[in-house]
Amino acid sequence: MTLKGVLEHEKALQRIADRNGGNRAAGTPGYDASVDYVEWRLERAGYDVSRQSFTFFDFRELGPSVLQQTAPGTVTYVEDTDFSVTDHSAPGDVTAAVTPVDITLGLGNTSTSGCEAADFAGFPAGNIALLQRGTCTFEIKGENAAAAGAVGIVFMNQGNTDAPDRNGIPAVTLGNGYTGGIPAVNATYALGASLSATPGLTMRVFANVSRLLSENENLIAESRKGDPHNVVMAGAHLDSVREGPGINDNGSGSSALIEVAEQMAKLKLPNKLRFAWWGAEEANLVGSNHYVSQLDDAGLADIEMYLNFDMVASPNYGLFIYDGDGSGFGLVGPDGSDEIEGLFEEYYAKRDIPSEPTAFSGRSDYQAFINNGVPSGGLFTGAEGVKTAAQAAKWGGTAGTAYDPCYHAACDTIANLSHRALDINSDAIAYVIYLYASGRRVINAG
Ligand SMILES: [Zn+2]
Repeated sequence: MTLKGVLEHEKALQRIADRNGGNRAAGTPGYDASVDYVEWRLERAGYDVSRQSFTFFDFRELGPSVLQQTAPGTVTYVEDTDFSVTDHSAPGDVTAAVTPVDITLGLGNTSTSGCEAADFAGFPAGNIALLQRGTCTFEIKGENAAAAGAVGIVFMNQGNTDAPDRNGIPAVTLGNGYTGGIPAVNATYALGASLSATPGLTMRVFANVSRLLSENENLIAESRKGDPHNVVMAGAHLDSVREGPGINDNGSGSSALIEVAEQMAKLKLPNKLRFAWWGAEEANLVGSNHYVSQLDDAGLADIEMYLNFDMVASPNYGLFIYDGDGSGFGLVGPDGSDEIEGLFEEYYAKRDIPSEPTAFSGRSDYQAFINNGVPSGGLFTGAEGVKTAAQAAKWGGTAGTAYDPCYHAACDTIANLSHRALDINSDAIAYVIYLYASGRRVINAG
C-alpha cells in the first residue's frame, strides 16, 4: 500500500469538487463525477462493477428560517442561538396557537413527549405542537403530531446536557423517512420551557427549506473470483456534505478503499471481495440502508463481515477502532465484531502505535449491517469531538481542539489531511482485508 496511490485518488476527488461548485454531495454533479471516477478505477482493476440506484430526500436550507412569537406581544428568536430548522423538515410557513404536548420540565432525559398517539388526545387540530426531545425518534414524534392535525412543530431540548446539540439546540433530524409533511424547528430547553409556560401563545414557524425526492447511486465492485458464500465486504461513503469537498469526510475512506481494491486485484484470494462506495450517507445513511434492505437472508448470510471506513485521516487525528467487543462503551457489535476489533488492534500493536476503541454510535454505514447481525468493524480518526491532553501525549496533535476542525465545512480540502494517519490506516485496512480474504484469519462467529 502506498500513500502516494491513496493521495492520487484524494486529488482526483478534490479536482471533481473544484469543477462542480466545491462539493460532492448526493444529488449533485460532483457526486456523479465521483461515482464515475471510482467506477473507472475499479473496472480498470478488473472488478465486476455495478451501480445501485435508490431514492432519497434531498434536503436543503434555502435561507434563514423564522421562529417568532406573535402573541402575546412579538418576539423574534435568533436562528442558531435560540432555534434552528429541523433537518428533514418539510417546507412551510405557518402561524397558529401553540399547544405543549406531554412536556416534562426539570433536568432529565426521559421525556416521552409525542411518542404515543395518546399524547395528542384533545390536541386542537390546526395548532402548532410544542414537543420535547426524548425516548423515541423525532420522526415518530413528528408523524404523530401531523396525524393529530398539527400544522407545525417546535422541538424543545431536554434539560440534560449529554445529548448531541449545538448551543443547546438539539442537533437532530426527522430522518429520510419522515412523511409528516409539516414544518419543524428545534429550540433550546430554556426557550421551550418559557414557551410552555406562556398562556395564549401563538407563533410563526417558517422552515425555509426544500425537500425533494431525488435519485442517487451506490457503487459496488466485486472480485470476479473467490467464494461467493464467503464475502469480505468493505465500504465507505462517497458523498460529501454541501458545505465542502469532503476530502477527509469521506474522501479518505473512499480513496483508501480504491487503493486497497487496486492492490488486492493482483492477488489470488479464496474469498470474494466486495467493496461499496455508498451514496447519501450524509442524508441519514440512505445508500447503505437501501443496500442491506435489498438483501435476502441468503445474501445477508454470504457476507462474512462488513468493514467501514468513514474519516481515516483527520488532521488532528485519533486512531480509533470500532468497539466490537463492547469493552470501551458497552455497545457490543454482532458476534465476531470483537475479533475484527482484535485484528485491527493487532496491526497497531505490531507497529507500536497506540489505538483506542470508539463506540458504534450509529453515525455511519455499519448501522444497517449491525442491525442485521453482520459482524462489523472499522476505523475512525475523529470528527467534531475534541482531543484530550492524554490523547495529544499519545498521538501528538493539539489538545483541546477538534480532531477535524474542518468537519462538514468548506475547508475539508486536500490540505485537511493527516498524511501519517492516512498512511497508517490505509495499511491497517489492507492488512485486515487481506487476512480475511486470504482465509488466513476466519471469524468464528455463531
Ligand atoms: Zn462521514
